Amino acid sequence: MDDKLRLDGNAAAGTLGEVFSFEVTTAEYTCEGCGKTDRIGAAMVYDVRGLGIIVRCPSCDNALIRLGHNRGRYRIDLRGVRQLQVEEVAG
Ligand SMILES: [Zn+2]
Repeated sequence: MDDKLRLDGNAAAGTLGEVFSFEVTTAEYTCEGCGKTDRIGAAMVYDVRGLGIIVRCPSCDNALIRLGHNRGRYRIDLRGVRQLQVEEVAG
């Protein structure tokens, strides 16, 4: 990459903040396991005894999203999602 185009991570805050304020249920995932694309709202969710949730692909049972919540922090593992598509927020 061209070093003249490189900025520090703070430069991504505006764009990432816009993307990560999306409506989760209508966002579309593509499963890393089987390639299925569907809305997050159509996936299966398992509550892990107050520690967090696991969102699984209904087609192949791959863990799409693991969300942990502990000591005031969230930890999000998106390894099971090949791609996430979200609608641009009108504004
Ligand atoms: Zn799958």
